[in-house]
Amino acid sequence: RGKRAFIAGVADDNGYGWAIAKSLAAAGAEILVGTWVPALNIFESSLRRGKFDESRKLPDGSLMEITKVYPLDAVFDDMESVPEDIKTNKRYSGSSKWTVQEVVECVKQDFGSIDILVHSLANGPEVSKPLLETSRNGYLAAISASSYSFISLLSHFVPIMNPGIFLILYAFTFLASCGASISLTYIASEKIIPGYGGGMSSAKAALESDTRVLAFEAGRKHKIRVNTISAGPLRSRAAKAIGFIDMMIDYSSANAPLQKELSAEEVGNAAAFLASPLASAITGAVVYVDNGLNAMGVGV
Ligand code: NAD
Repeated sequence: RGKRAFIAGVADDNGYGWAIAKSLAAAGAEILVGTWVPALNIFESSLRRGKFDESRKLPDGSLMEITKVYPLDAVFDDMESVPEDIKTNKRYSGSSKWTVQEVVECVKQDFGSIDILVHSLANGPEVSKPLLETSRNGYLAAISASSYSFISLLSHFVPIMNPGIFLILYAFTFLASCGASISLTYIASEKIIPGYGGGMSSAKAALESDTRVLAFEAGRKHKIRVNTISAGPLRSRAAKAIGFIDMMIDYSSANAPLQKELSAEEVGNAAAFLASPLASAITGAVVYVDNGLNAMGVGV
C-alpha cells in the first residue's frame, strides 16, 4: 500500500503544510490533515465548495484528495489540560476530540497507522514584540505552540508509526518502509532576524535542538527519522501576520545565491524527499530550502 501521512497545520492553500501535502500526494501518499480548531469550519467549507480545486491540481492533472480532516489544537495534550474558558469557547465547543492524544486515538481507530508525520504549525502571540519586551506568558506560549507541539505530536504518534524496516537482499540494503517526521523551522533560530520576536526565534532554536535529540531517541527506539526544513520566506497567512514578509522576500531575492522567489512547492518537494526512502540515512538534520540565503555572510 501507499504511505499514509498526517500533516498538522493546514488551514488554507497558501502555506507550507498544503504544499507538503500536495508533494506527498503526488508521490502517492494518502493525506490526513490536522487543522487548528478555530480555522476548521472555514477550511472544511472552502474545501467542500471547491474553493481550493485549482490549487488541488497535481502534476498528473488529478486533484489531491484529503482523506480526512481532523480538528486539532496542538497546544493541548489531553482533555484534562484544557482550561474551562477554551472548553466553553464557541469556536471549540462545536468540535470534539481535538487534543493531541484524542486526535492520535482517532487516527488509530480510523486507519491503524501512519508512515509520515509533518508538523507545519507555529504560533507566537507576541511575535511582533522585540524579545526584550516579550512577556513570560507570550514567550511560553510561543514555545508551547511552536516547539513542544512537535514533541507532543511525535510522542503520541510514534506508537502507531510504521518503523523503517531494513531489508538485506544479496549485497544491497533496502529501506522497505519509511517512518519519518518533518517540521518547519526558520533561520531566525541562529541568526538575528529583527522583527521575528515574541520568543519565536527561541522557539525555532528549541525545535532545531529537539530535532537532534528526538532523532536519537526515536531512531534508536522506533527506527523513525526526525528532520526539520529551514525554509525561506513565503507569503503564508502566518507570515503575513508577522508583518515583514514582503521585505524578507525582497531581501532574499536580492541577496540569495539563487535570485528567484521561493515557491511553497520547492519546500513541499524537499519534504517529500526527506519523507521517502531516498533519504533513509538522513536524520537529525536541519535542511535549508531557502535559495541558499543561509550561506551568505553579507548581502550583496
Ligand atoms: P500557515 O499559516 O500556512 O501555517 C501555520 C498553521 O498553524 C496554520 O494553519 C494555523 O492554523 C496552525 N496553528 C497555529 N496554532 C495551532 C495550534 N495550536 N494547533 C494546531 N494548529 C495551529 O503558515 P506557514 O508559514 O506555512 O507555517 C508553517 C510552518 O512553516 C511554521 O512552522 C512556520 O514557522 C514555518 N516557516 C514559515 C516561513 C514563512 O516565511 N512562511 C519560513 C520558515 C518557516
